[in-house]
Amino acid sequence: MDHTTPGDRLPAEAVTLLEALLADDTPAFRALRAQIPHLRVTGGCGCPCASLDFRLDETAAVPAAPAAGCPAAEATVLDADGEPIGGVLVFVSEGQLSGLEVYTWADEPITRLPSPDRLQP
Ligand SMILES: [Zn+2]
Repeated sequence: MDHTTPGDRLPAEAVTLLEALLADDTPAFRALRAQIPHLRVTGGCGCPCASLDFRLDETAAVPAAPAAGCPAAEATVLDADGEPIGGVLVFVSEGQLSGLEVYTWADEPITRLPSPDRLQP
């Protein structure tokens, strides 16, 4: 992503997207949502897509989440016409949120994180 530097807080659209993908009221998702304000960007993908890697700020006193599966959450991404164009995955490592992957089924990568109204569970 263009304007993201390692060490930064997550961009607002990443926070919104994670909250939407982890909205279920389960113990694992509640614990993961509590980590979102304490995530720091560690990098992105080598291609122009919007995928982001991050880690929990070690000074944040936030517990690891119970086992949440891998990926912890996923959704299909729709274009403005409601057609599926790809998907988004939430990765968790050792109970901590670690990445958002945005992939496409078309030739061009998805270069902006989708807004929640473009997601289909
Ligand atoms: Zn990429």
